[in-house]
Amino acid sequence: MSPEGYAPLSTETVAARLAPLPAVAQRLGGGPADWTAAEVGDGNLNLVFILTGPKGQLIAKQALPYVRLVGDSWPLPLERSWFEYNALVRHAARDPGSVPEVYHFDRDQALIVMEFMTGHRILRRDLIDGVEHPGIADFLGRFCARTLFLSSDLGMPTPERKADLALFAANVALCDITESLVFTDPYWDAPLNRHTSPQLDPLVAELRADAVLKVEAQHLKSAFCANAEALLHGDLHTGSVMALGEHAVVIDPEFAVYGPMGFDVGMLISNFLMAYHAQPGHESTPGARAAFGDWILAAASDIWLHFADEFSALWRTQRTGILYPPKLYEDQGQILASEQALTERLAAIWTDAMGFCGVEMHRRILGLAHNADFEAIADTDRRAACEARSLRLGRQLIRTRRSIRGMDEVCALARRIDEGFA
Ligand code: ADP
Ligand code: MG
Repeated sequence: MSPEGYAPLSTETVAARLAPLPAVAQRLGGGPADWTAAEVGDGNLNLVFILTGPKGQLIAKQALPYVRLVGDSWPLPLERSWFEYNALVRHAARDPGSVPEVYHFDRDQALIVMEFMTGHRILRRDLIDGVEHPGIADFLGRFCARTLFLSSDLGMPTPERKADLALFAANVALCDITESLVFTDPYWDAPLNRHTSPQLDPLVAELRADAVLKVEAQHLKSAFCANAEALLHGDLHTGSVMALGEHAVVIDPEFAVYGPMGFDVGMLISNFLMAYHAQPGHESTPGARAAFGDWILAAASDIWLHFADEFSALWRTQRTGILYPPKLYEDQGQILASEQALTERLAAIWTDAMGFCGVEMHRRILGLAHNADFEAIADTDRRAACEARSLRLGRQLIRTRRSIRGMDEVCALARRIDEGFA
């Protein structure tokens, strides 16, 4: 149900409709007649416009009352924009500079006006084109640690956290998409699924017949639904990161919901590992992307390292919530007990992350929303060969996540699968 007065913007109307907003007029300079508008939304769900004026540029992102990828046969509440706005504001406070600055929000129009990331490109595109980004793992690991720790009972005042939990619990429709599309549909012949066929058919049949895998996937879904540990970005893949050289931001947190910390971290690492497996599909001569593949794996490993580092630093200095209070440990001279608790919390996040990492691989190759890393490989035999590696790695991670010790082991597995040993 759209609120009264809601009207989707178009390239023809966006300038005039935003002109009355001081935040917009001030940044663009001149008047609406001097502004040009272009629609850049390459996403699955929303309208995204770039407005350009004599003085500057900005982004206007507006939700549509349906899923753009599918059409108006699949309605989706405009309220997702409200959750995206609230998540952006919180991310900005918890990790300053990590998201585009919000200039204006209109709840009835489901509209967010925000900073235009000039020159930045979607990270996924650069991973396809072979462009390295020094510092990206540091940024992403820190982003996860800060946004997750500071929205949890480790670092947030309880009344605020409970109010926030209630606020984001209303993001039901997008949460439902994750619950169905990520955790369930890949594991049965759901109507919206697709995969590279016929090449992957035998492997897909094998995965869907794997009873242990399906039980583990539902254990992970249960963790996603029931463990409201921290405010998740909820869709933290490489298409939600914009980067330019060493600078990066995270965009598009409309799937924000409280859930297990390992979800964001695992999804992120998963998308790096899939980018790695896709590299042979992008190279002009065999081995041409070998060094870039090494860089991707190193970045995937470093995401976890930086996450754990920053999480540990926050644990030691900003543990002001109701969990593991310093009065039980540090104040009693028991620093090692606090360190033990930290190690055990990180181990739990790691195990979850490995499971979510595997599920993300399966849903991106077997479900509705595929990723460009594989889709950009036009030759379907080559694409299927790349996808098969991630499908196999995904299964291994989900099934053995409780005994995987670290990213070295994950990267070794990713490489061995590459060499055809798995
Ligand atoms: P959706 O929710 O529909 O997936 P996104 O928020 O991912 O939409 O935005 C779609 C595209 O618009 C992005 O892939 C990016 O190219 C562009 N975009 C979004 N926000 C910005 C921004 N702040 N600055 C520059 N480009 C942006
Ligand atoms: Mg989106």
